[in-house]
Amino acid sequence: MEVKPNEAWHNAHMMPANPTREERMEWHAEHAAACGCKPVPASLAAAVKSFRSKRPGRAN
Ligand SMILES: [Zn+2]
Repeated sequence: MEVKPNEAWHNAHMMPANPTREERMEWHAEHAAACGCKPVPASLAAAVKSFRSKRPGRAN
């Protein structure tokens, strides 16, 4: 089995050259929802999780 990157999403969501922690966190939060070709780095996992739970998401 291989994980196929969601190329359309990646093309639309380029990581900035020098991302801040917040940019990386947001990128990974959206990436995990849209793709999954690579795991969220351990150093960001907790932050991404709380970032996602603070967002309205699908509720509403
Ligand atoms: Zn991906």
